[in-house]
Amino acid sequence: MTDEASALECYRRACEDAAEFRVYERYQEENDLGAVEAEVALCRRHAAEERPSNLGRSYPGYVFRVDPIGDGPVEGREQEL
Ligand SMILES: [Zn+2]
Repeated sequence: MTDEASALECYRRACEDAAEFRVYERYQEENDLGAVEAEVALCRRHAAEERPSNLGRSYPGYVFRVDPIGDGPVEGREQEL
């Protein structure tokens, strides 16, 4: 695999947009085995559609969070393909 990506791509398969957000969810393992952490990088559009998917396994430490990648606005979004 080449690691050419300085710009992260959206995690959604059909999407080639640059990822702008990280969506993070921490929930309880099915059999109380501990916490599961899931994090995916998504473009703005898909991040907006993202929602908590494991509320059924929430617990006191449950987290659902959307963080922007990098600081501030994305500069010079040149995509050389
Ligand atoms: Zn996307």
